[in-house]
Order: sequence, then C-alpha cells, then structure tokens
Amino acid sequence: MRVSRFLLSTVRETPAEAETVSHQLMLRAGMIRKLAAGIYSWLPLGLRVLRKVEKIVREEMNRAGAQEVLMPAVQPAELWQESGRWDQYGPELLRLTDRHKRDFCFGPTHEEVITDLIRREIKSYRQLPANFYQIQMKFRDEIRPRFGVMRAREFLMKDAYSFHASEASLGETYQVMHATYSRIFQRVGLEFRPVAADTGAIGGSHSHEFHVLADSGEDAIAICSKCEYAANVEMAQALPPLGKRPAPGQPMQTADTPGQHTIEQVSRFLKIDPKQTVKTLLVKGTGGVIALVLRGDHELNEIKVAKLPQVAKPLMFVTPGEVELAAGCEPGSIGPVGLKITVIADESAVRLADFVCGANVNGKHLVNVNWGRDAAEPVVADLRKVVEGDPCPDSGKGECGGTLSIRRGIEVGHIFQLGTKYSEAMQATVLDEAGQSVIMPMGCYGIGVSRVVAAAIEQNHDDNGILWPDAIAPFQIALVPIGYGKSEKVRETMDKLYGELVHAGFDVLLDDRDERPGVIFADMDLIGIPHRIVIGDKGLAKGVAEYKGRRDKQPRELPLGDVIGMLH
Ligand code: ATP
Ligand code: MG
Ligand code: MG
Ligand code: MG
Repeated sequence: MRVSRFLLSTVRETPAEAETVSHQLMLRAGMIRKLAAGIYSWLPLGLRVLRKVEKIVREEMNRAGAQEVLMPAVQPAELWQESGRWDQYGPELLRLTDRHKRDFCFGPTHEEVITDLIRREIKSYRQLPANFYQIQMKFRDEIRPRFGVMRAREFLMKDAYSFHASEASLGETYQVMHATYSRIFQRVGLEFRPVAADTGAIGGSHSHEFHVLADSGEDAIAICSKCEYAANVEMAQALPPLGKRPAPGQPMQTADTPGQHTIEQVSRFLKIDPKQTVKTLLVKGTGGVIALVLRGDHELNEIKVAKLPQVAKPLMFVTPGEVELAAGCEPGSIGPVGLKITVIADESAVRLADFVCGANVNGKHLVNVNWGRDAAEPVVADLRKVVEGDPCPDSGKGECGGTLSIRRGIEVGHIFQLGTKYSEAMQATVLDEAGQSVIMPMGCYGIGVSRVVAAAIEQNHDDNGILWPDAIAPFQIALVPIGYGKSEKVRETMDKLYGELVHAGFDVLLDDRDERPGVIFADMDLIGIPHRIVIGDKGLAKGVAEYKGRRDKQPRELPLGDVIGMLH
C-alpha cells in the first residue's frame, strides 16, 4: 500500500474525550471514528488490525473443529421469552418493534438463536458433539459505554456454542476451547492469563475468563507468583448471613429462611451510613472480604438479603431501580451458592450503576470483580492490602509455595459450560443410543474481537504511539524514502524493494508523500508499524539502508542486499 493511496488520518493532539491510552491512540492513529456513544466506524487502518485478529480467531476455531455460521443480528422476542431472558436481561438488551408491532431485539449474544437452529437441525447423538461459531456484531446497551471500542455498545464478537450428548463430552470440548483460546492469545502476541471465573446461574468451576494483563484493566484478578492459578476477583466468596458466620473451616451457612433485613441491620453489617450519598464499602467477613462500591449522588433506599438457590449473575441489573450484587460461596469452593444482596437505589444510582462494584476475597480463593476502572481504585488498593503476599491456594496440584498478587486485567474472552440451561428451556433434544430423547448439554465461548484490538494497545504502547505485536500490525513494514519525489535513484530502489517485499508476502506501507522525514517517522511510530526501512541518496551511495525496529532505541545501517533476508 502506498500512503498516497491510503486514508492515513493521523492526528497530533490527544483527543479530549478519550480517557484511556488505547482510545486516544486509536483515534490519533486514525483507526476508528465515533458515530454515536459506543458506536464506531473502523477506518482502513483499524480494520486491517481487526481483520488480522479475526483471521487468527477463525483459523484456530477451524483447527479445533468448530464450524462457522452466521446468525441474524436482529432476533425475535419469542425466542427470548422461551428462554426466560426477555424479562431477565434488563436494559442492556436493545429492544425493537417492527411495523407489525412485533417485538425484536438486537442480539447481545446468541444462545437462543443457535439453540433454536440446532434443535431443528440435529436429531441424533451421532451428529454430536458439534461446535458452531460466528464472528458478528453484537449490541449491548451498556449503561456507560467508554474507552472507545473497549466497552462499546456495538462490538465485534466471536461467539461459539457447542452441543453434546453427555456432560463428559461437554467437558472435553471445554478443554479444547480452553487450549484454543490460549493459542489464539499467544498468536496475537499478548500477555494474558486464563482465570477461574464466576459462572453466575450455572455454578461450579466451569467457567474461565481470559484476561489481557494491563494496568488500565477494569477487572481485578488474583494471580499466583509460581503456578498458573489465577482467579477473577469476581468469583468467590461469601457474605455470611447476618449474624451467622461459619466457624473456621466450616462451610458457610446460608440463611434458613429467605430473610428480609432492615436497612439498619445491613448497614450496620456493612458498616455504612445508609444516608450517605457517596460510598466505598469494604466489608470483611469471616474468611473473606466483600466490597460493594456505590458512588454517585443517591441514597440507598433499601437493601435486601435473601437466600438464593443459585445466584443469577454476580452483578446484574434486574429491573430499573434495582441493582443486585450476588455473593455467597463456601470457603474453599468456587462458584456462588448462597446469598443475594439486592440494593434498591434510586434512579440516579441506576444511571450511575457502572460505579456499582463488587469484589470478594475469600481467605484462600479470590473471585470476581466487575467494576469501573476509577471507581474500583480504592477497592483494588484495599484488596492489595488484604491479599498481596497471601499463600497461593491449592489449585488441585498441591501447594506450589507461591504467593498471590492482584493485577489488573481486560476480559477478552470467556468460556462457559452452560449445561442444559437453554436446551432444557427450549427443548433442544436428540435421540440417544437407546432411542431415548435427551436434552443436549451446551457450552458457549466468546471472544471480544474488537476489544482485543484495544487491549493489545493498552499492553503495548510508548510515548510515541502504538507498539503492535507483529501478528496483528496493520502493516508489518514501513518503507520511508528520503526524497521520493526528487531522487530517481531513491524512487527506483524503493519501488523495487516494495515490489519484492509485497511479493514475499509482507504487508508493506510505502510512504511516498512529499513530507519531511520527521513527520513521516512520527506517523509510522504513532500507527505502530513494527519495522521501518529508510532509504536516501546518502545511504544509497554507500549501498546501505537504515533499519529500525519499533521498539529499538536507535536505527542501524545494513547493506541494501540484506534487507529482505533480515525481515524474513
Ligand atoms: P464485561 O464483563 O466486560 O462487561 P461480559 O462478561 O459482559 O464483559 P461476555 O458476555 O462474557 O461479556 O461476552 C464475551 C466477550 O465479549 C467478553 O469477554 C468481552 O471480551 C467482549 N465484550 C463484552 N462486552 C463488550 C463491550 N461492551 N464492548 C466490547 N467487547 C465486549
Ligand atoms: Mg458485560
Ligand atoms: Mg465479565
Ligand atoms: Mg464475561
């Protein structure tokens, strides 16, 4: 590609509306442009990166035996009513009505659509297991879209759904997907950790999130210094029922009767003043800590604590005005079992609900945090005090001798064993060997493809711009001629080199603009091209080109004839 034929829309100034480095750099490099809150266009430069991430994801999903499909973005309400989620999903679901007054939604995820499709297409256990994926635009009406494509409303997701004749088969495919995700993020070139994560309504330890480690991440994860143990601080832990704390080593007791507690009781337990308007709460219970952060100009109108057989989701908006923080987990186990705290706050609190955060630390297991970056800061600081240096929990392989630390992560992938949650509600069955109709256990596996692009920048940048990992760089090589328009020798040499590199399969950007070298260098650094070759008359007289890796401090000279060999 020649810059003269390419929409290179770089901007010098840091855009005021962008808080995070990745958002700033994606705007400055001319990768994305905002159309509306949380809704972005991808310019040619950004799309090249997005497509490279997509390609890696597609190749690895295909390698794992998954089959690509493409499902509609707009989904009929009837399917969501069948699964029960039409009423449960809350305001993140963008609901639409067509001209015949029929209800639809713009898909935030596709469990219902795929389950409907597969219950019609697959009849026999012989066709199982089967795993279907798509790479497709989702819409979630995020309460506060932010950080550009990191938390957008419209975003590109790879979502996959597997169907099985047995739980054991689901377990196998889950392991394959776990390994596939690790390969994907390795190939993309990011530092990441798979972390044990909350399964919400499903329970058990059958969910992992994949986090790109970056200080700007919205999630807090506990990682071990020695072994591969890692848990999202979202996952664990129990708020013991009021007045009923387990003896050390004993499983947590849940309230015998679903109890309504007065605001005063709960406030006393949480050590908060219910009349206070801005709160950061950190509550230390037996064997753990529960933190609930409520920020904003609001009052707590009501707090309920009730027994729950299964917790729907750690942090979930049920109806307007209601914010749930679910907690409850036996010390030493993972997955919530016991309690639901419902904080019913006023309208403004709901509008500010992104600032409602939950964090749990169970003496040994750390689980779940799902919070806004800035709101979480005091909690993360407190978590560090509580957790840093603690011995790492036994991850099933014996004590490793390591200690825990809290790191920030960006959730780029999430894998789940769904079990029969959707297939039962929607009667997705097959005939088994004995000719009996059985409900298919399911798994689901998501990757935030567009979020990966932003996460890669959060992890890889310097003062001059982006430092793309080679695998997803929009161009691998920048060719910078000094005096392209003036020196025939320079132009001929560059054009020849360009042709040879393109022929060798590289993505090359030839900057043939009539700009000062300083301007060109700044642009190439900003857009993060990993390799830069400069050729000018002076070097040509000596038969050399100048090479600089994007992470190198200084350029170096090399014989012209060695350029292609060196880049291979
Ligand atoms: P988050 O905790 O960040 O809100 P999630 O847990 O709601 O994410 P999932 O339902 O697990 O998201 O969706 C699968 C993947 O889609 C996530 O791991 C994430 O990478 C991506 N994703 C989710 N919401 C967004 C968003 N608003 N913008 C960009 N990517 C997103
Ligand atoms: Mg979400
Ligand atoms: Mg999440
Ligand atoms: Mg998730």
